[in-house]
Amino acid sequence: MSFSNKILSWYNVNKRDLPWRESKNPYFVWLSEVILQQTRVAQGTAYYYKFVEHFPTVQKLASASEEEILNLWQGLGYYSRARNLHKAAQQVVNEFNGEFPTTYKDILTLKGVGDYTASAISSICFGEQKAVVDGNVYRVLARYFGLDTPIDSTQGRKQFKVLAEELLPTKEVGEYNQGLMELGALVCSPKSPDCVRCPINKSCIAYSKNTMANFPVKSKKTKQRKRYFNYLVIENKGSYYIEKRIEKDIWKNMYQFPLIETSKEQESPVYTSSDLILIGRKVAKKHVLSHQTIYAVFWEYKQIKDRELNPNWIKVNDFSNKPLPRLIELYVEGGLLR
Ligand code: SF4
Repeated sequence: MSFSNKILSWYNVNKRDLPWRESKNPYFVWLSEVILQQTRVAQGTAYYYKFVEHFPTVQKLASASEEEILNLWQGLGYYSRARNLHKAAQQVVNEFNGEFPTTYKDILTLKGVGDYTASAISSICFGEQKAVVDGNVYRVLARYFGLDTPIDSTQGRKQFKVLAEELLPTKEVGEYNQGLMELGALVCSPKSPDCVRCPINKSCIAYSKNTMANFPVKSKKTKQRKRYFNYLVIENKGSYYIEKRIEKDIWKNMYQFPLIETSKEQESPVYTSSDLILIGRKVAKKHVLSHQTIYAVFWEYKQIKDRELNPNWIKVNDFSNKPLPRLIELYVEGGLLR
């Protein structure tokens, strides 16, 4: 049996029952692909249901406000994905007459869509001969063929893409792509691959040499930037002051307490004013993002001079209506506001 037939037969029997697999509607497949980038299936599924319920069509998504979308996206991280989702939906409405594009080339023009997503949608929904190469596919192919070209190099990306295209079957290409990704997710897992149950174990190089842990090879380590955030949690007559992040930085257009960023963690107050008394200092758990780690301190103040309340002052219950970075959400959920 050929490589692709083994994958297809295995997938047929072992595929997980996931809601976006029920239809070949490109809008739903696209939503699921964007949500599942950098997100586990268990967590992503709940978000998928929320999005489909709120925005059953691409038109509904296009006409929503960015704030509404960010609010639903809250907790998933990588917020640029949500903003791109919104812009791409507007593109579908304005540039494609509301019809989701049907070819790899056209899908690739949508905001935030790269080779991976365009290949997935065009092969799954329209049977186009495009190979999908995600982290799972890199791992399976690197181990199976014993390929040690770093997958984060230009040469590696090209080599794996060419190989993946060569392996494509002539029929059922969408099912095959999903099968290879599913095999990587369920059997050829990063830490403990279940090689005994693997349908391609007879000719797998890494399995034959017991070198599974050596693949795939990466050349660079991601550099983590350390950042020190000091949030000023100011209470005034039971309300708290919040503001929108407008800088070109993480969490753009989400809400936060006023922020002072410093070059190291601060032990003594970063802000003083005759209007405020400091009543507490809470250190958050370090918050790890893909390229940066945030060390946050919440400085809790009480407003002692009367100040007029404007829409920037909100009650504890209203925090759930605002898109918040997970770090702030955890602080609010922790019941730390009085
Ligand atoms: S035999 Fe093991 S290492 Fe090889 S592809 Fe299968 S699960 Fe991965």
